[in-house]
Amino acid sequence: MKYFYVGAMAEVDREAEVAICERLAEEFHWPVRKLELPAADFAYDAARRQYGSIPVLAALVERCPEDAVKLLAVTERDLFIPVLTFVYGHAQLGGRVAVISLARLRQEFYGLPPNQPVFLERALKEALHEAGHTFGLVHCADKECAMSLATNIRQIDLKRAAFCASCAAHLRRRPRELGT
Ligand SMILES: [Zn+2]
Ligand SMILES: [Zn+2]
Repeated sequence: MKYFYVGAMAEVDREAEVAICERLAEEFHWPVRKLELPAADFAYDAARRQYGSIPVLAALVERCPEDAVKLLAVTERDLFIPVLTFVYGHAQLGGRVAVISLARLRQEFYGLPPNQPVFLERALKEALHEAGHTFGLVHCADKECAMSLATNIRQIDLKRAAFCASCAAHLRRRPRELGT
């Protein structure tokens, strides 16, 4: 038996964690298991005051359970890669591990009043996006598709928390190809 693991790092919004687990189970048809992960302190970059998503992915590869079809980590820490100001998430394309950050998904981050439903919806979109990459999906031209590239919060809000027909068809073919 294989499992889709969701690894919430320390401090992660529990409501978001539960919503992500439910949505991934529904979308990918693997039983979902939770994995407790330590905070991403080891990936802290003092100069940028952010956390490197590349060292986080490397650590996830080390921690990925034997029976994991995928491991999606969720952190509250703001992630970056060297060439970008920040990233909402990062995944191994066609690999086993991915991470998403909730840091920039709350209305408060943009100086607006809190809105938990909006926050949770954004978290689901990012979870589907990075999970989709691990299943080999690349960026999609359909702006409403979860696999559309988002570099700002407006682009995330344009998406639906679902894959377009083309990406969904690709996913349906994928599991057998991989033999998982
Ligand atoms: Zn992407
Ligand atoms: Zn698509």
